[in-house]
Amino acid sequence: MAAGSAIQIPSRLPLLLTHESVLLPGSTMRTSVDSPRNMQLVRSRLLKGTSLRSTIIGVIPNTSDPTSDCDDLPNLHRIGTAALAVQVVGSNWPKPHYTLLVTGLCRFQILQLLKEKPYPVAEVQQLDRLEQFTNGHKSEEELGELSEQFYKYAVQLVEMLDMSVPAVAKLRRLLDNLPREALPDILTSIIRTTNQEKLQILDAVRLEERFKMTIPLLVRQIEGLKLLQKTRKSKQDDDKRVVAIRPNRRISHGSITEDEEEEEDHDDVVMLEKKIRTSSMSEQALKVCLKEIKRLKKMPQSMPEYALTRNYLELMVELPWNKSTKDRLEIRAARIVLDNDHYAMEKLKKRVLEYLAVRQLKNNLKGPILCFVGPPGVGKTSVGRSIAKTLGREFHRIALGGVCDQSDIRGHRRTYVGSMPGRIINGLKTVGVNNPVFLLDEVDKLAKSLQGDPAAALLEVLDPEQNHSFTDHYLNVAFDLSQVLFIATANTTATIPPALLDRMEVIQVPGYTQEEKIEIAHRHLIPKQLEQHGLTPQQIQIPQVTTLGIITRYTREAGVRALDRKLGAICRAVAVKVAEGQHKEAKPDRAEVGEGEDCKEHITEDAKPESISDTADLALPPEMPILIDFHALKDILGPPMYDMEVSERLNQPGVAIGLAWTPLGGEIMFVEASRMDGEGQLTLTGQLGDVMKESAHLAISWLRSNAKRYQLTNASGSFDLLDNTDIHLHFPAGAVTKDGPSAGVTIVTCLASLFSGRLVCSDVAMTGEITLRGLVLPVGGIKDKVLAAHRAGLKRIIIPQRNEKDLEEIAEHVRQDLTFVLAGCLDEVLNAAFDGGFAVKARLEHLNSKL
Ligand code: ADP
Repeated sequence: MAAGSAIQIPSRLPLLLTHESVLLPGSTMRTSVDSPRNMQLVRSRLLKGTSLRSTIIGVIPNTSDPTSDCDDLPNLHRIGTAALAVQVVGSNWPKPHYTLLVTGLCRFQILQLLKEKPYPVAEVQQLDRLEQFTNGHKSEEELGELSEQFYKYAVQLVEMLDMSVPAVAKLRRLLDNLPREALPDILTSIIRTTNQEKLQILDAVRLEERFKMTIPLLVRQIEGLKLLQKTRKSKQDDDKRVVAIRPNRRISHGSITEDEEEEEDHDDVVMLEKKIRTSSMSEQALKVCLKEIKRLKKMPQSMPEYALTRNYLELMVELPWNKSTKDRLEIRAARIVLDNDHYAMEKLKKRVLEYLAVRQLKNNLKGPILCFVGPPGVGKTSVGRSIAKTLGREFHRIALGGVCDQSDIRGHRRTYVGSMPGRIINGLKTVGVNNPVFLLDEVDKLAKSLQGDPAAALLEVLDPEQNHSFTDHYLNVAFDLSQVLFIATANTTATIPPALLDRMEVIQVPGYTQEEKIEIAHRHLIPKQLEQHGLTPQQIQIPQVTTLGIITRYTREAGVRALDRKLGAICRAVAVKVAEGQHKEAKPDRAEVGEGEDCKEHITEDAKPESISDTADLALPPEMPILIDFHALKDILGPPMYDMEVSERLNQPGVAIGLAWTPLGGEIMFVEASRMDGEGQLTLTGQLGDVMKESAHLAISWLRSNAKRYQLTNASGSFDLLDNTDIHLHFPAGAVTKDGPSAGVTIVTCLASLFSGRLVCSDVAMTGEITLRGLVLPVGGIKDKVLAAHRAGLKRIIIPQRNEKDLEEIAEHVRQDLTFVLAGCLDEVLNAAFDGGFAVKARLEHLNSKL
C-alpha cells in the first residue's frame, strides 16, 4: 500500500477497541467513544498530545461481547489498523462521550501488550509495508492477473452506480489513480459487507489473499445490483404497461389521456395549417399566419404563448376575408319593408330610400355615413335593422355608449395579457360575412380617457378612403371594411366629436305625436307584445282610448319605449288571468256548472268585474276578449303617474311654462320666480347651464329698463325692480341639466307676472331666445317642443317668428289642436301670455294654425 509504505508508524501504539465496525486501511470511519478505557485514551493521548505522532493510534476490532465490558482487558484481536485521528468531538449528552473521526493508514500486528491501564498500549509491527517484501517471491504475473480481474469487477460495479452522483464519479477516478493494492481495502469498506467479512479482509495480510477474498464480495455486490436494476426495470415496465392500459380504459369512459390529447393537438395544428392555406385571407395575412404556425409547431404546449398564438390563428381563419352575402336591393321592396316595419317617420324613410337608391345605381358604398339622431325609443335601431333586411345583409349592433378606450375599437396588441380584437373585428367574426350592416349605437356617448380617443379610431373605420385597409392592433394585418355598411345613432349631435360628425349625414328622428303613438302601438307594439306573451287578439282587447290613457297618464316620453313596456305589463297581467282561466276550465266539474254561472265565474277569474267595461259583463261568453279599460289599467299599472297639473300650478303670479329640448325629446318646464326683501341679488336654482343663467340676467336687465313702460314695480312700489329686493328663479322638474338660450322669453314672462302681480294664461307655453333690446330670436327643436306642449294638453304656443318654417314639419292634426303665436319681440310675447294683453302699445298677432 502506497500510503502505508510511505509512512512509518510508531512501534508503540495506544489501542482503541471498537465494537461498531472494522476500520480498514484507506477508509475513514466515525466512531463513538464512551468506554472508560477509550475515553481515557482520547483525553490523555489525543487531546493532550501535541505532535503528529500522538494522533496515530491503533484501532483494534473488539470481537468480544460488548455487554460484557468489564475492567479486565478482553482478548485482543491480533491484527488492527493504525489510524490517524482526524477529529475529536466531545459531548455530555446523553452521557459523556467523544466522537472520533479516524482514517486507516495500514495494518499492524500486536507483538506485545505493554500496559493495560488506563488504556492499552502495545508494541506493534507494521504489516502492509512488510508485506511487499514478504510477497516479493510471488510471481508478478499471477498477482497482476488477480489485480486486473479485481479492477475489472470494481469498474463494472462502479459503472452500475449512478455516475451523476459526485461521490460515484470520484470513486471512478480513484479506481484509476490509486495503486491497485489499495483497492481491496477501500472497496470492502464501501460495498455492503458484514463486520465479519471486513475482519476477514483485515486479517488477510497477504495481498494475493486479499484480492482473492474481495473478488467474491464484489461479484456478490454486482449481482445484487443487477437484480435490483432488473426489478426496477420490470417495475417501470409495469408502470408503462399500466399507462398503456389506461388509455383504453379511459376511452371506454369517453375521455382522453394526455398522450392522446397531445396527439390530437398536433392534429389540430395540422388542421389549422390546412385551414389557413385553404382560407381566402389576404396575402399579407397568409404570410403572417404561416409564420405563426411555424412558431406554434416548435412551441411546447405548456407555454402561455401557445394558447395565444393558437387563438390568434383560429380568429384569422374564422374571419370572413372573402365571404359576403349577395345584396338583393330593390327599391320598391325596400319601401314595402320599411313601411311594414315602421309607422310614420316619413322623412327618415324617404332619406333612407334615397340612400339605398343611390347604392343600387352606383354600386359602391363611398359616401356619408347615415346618422339617425333623436330621442330614445323612436325607432332608430329598428330602422337600421330594417335596412339590413331590405338589403338582405347581416345586421350587427355595436353599442358605443361609455366606450372610452380606443382599443375597444381597434383591439389590443397581442403582447398584452388578455389581448383581444376590437369590436369591429369581433363583430365581423360574429356575423361571418364581410358586408354586414353595422349599427354604431350611441356615438354621442363615446368618452375620452387616458387610453386614447375612441372617436379617432372610429374615424378610420368610417372613412371610406381609409377603411379598406383597417388595421386592428390584435390582427396586425389590414382588413378590408369597405363593404361594411355603417349606420350610426345618437340622441344629440352636440356631443358627437366634430370630426366624426363631419363624416356623417345627420337625419333627425323627432319624437312621436300622441296619434302616431297610438297608431304605432296598435299596428306594431301590441301585436308584438301579444306574440311574446302567447296571447291572441281573441283573449285581450286594448281599445284606442286605453292606449291614449297609457300614453298621457302613464308615460311622458318622445319615443315609444315606455309605452311598449307598459303594454308588456298589461299582457303579462292578462296572461296570468288567461292561464288561470284555462286551468279552471280544464277541471271536469266545470262542465256541470250552469252556463250563466260559468261565465260569471270565468270573468271574475279573468279580469275582475270592476276591470271590465261596465256593459253586461256577466253575460259575456268565456272566450270574450279581456277588455282593458281605465279600471283595468289602474289595476295593472297602478295609479296614473302624470296628471294634468298645468292649471293648478299657474294659479299664482310668477309662474310661466317654457318649452325645453333635451336629448330625450321635448319637455314642458315650469319657471317659478319669487321676490323678497334684500339687496338686489338674483338666485338661480335647478340644474342649469351657463347659457341659461345668462338668459336670466338678460331678462332682468330688459325688465328693469322697461319697468316704467309696463308699470312694473317692486314691493315698495318703486320702478327700480331690484331696489331692496332679491329675486329667486327656480327651474324645477328633474335632474336633467337644462341649458340653452330658449328659456329667455319664459323668464321674462315669469318675472313680468311676478312684478305685475298678474297670472300668466294657464294654456300657453313659450320658447325663444331674447336680446337686450327685446327682440325674440329663433331657437331649435321646435317640433319636439311643440309635441311636448301638445302632450301636456296646452293650447297656445309662443314661438319666435323666424321659426315659422319649422311648423311645416308638425303633423296636421297637432297643428289643428294648437294656436301658434309668432313673436318677433318681447312686447308680443307678453301680450300673448297674459289675458287681455300686457303692454300699452300692444301689437297682438294671433295665428290660427292653418298650416
Ligand atoms: P331607438 O333605437 O331609437 O332608441 P328602438 O329602435 O330601439 O329605439 O325602438 C324601440 C321600440 O319601438 C322598438 O321595438 C321599435 O320597433 C318600436 N318603434 C319605434 N318607432 C316605431 C315605428 N315608427 N313603428 C313601429 N315600431 C316602432
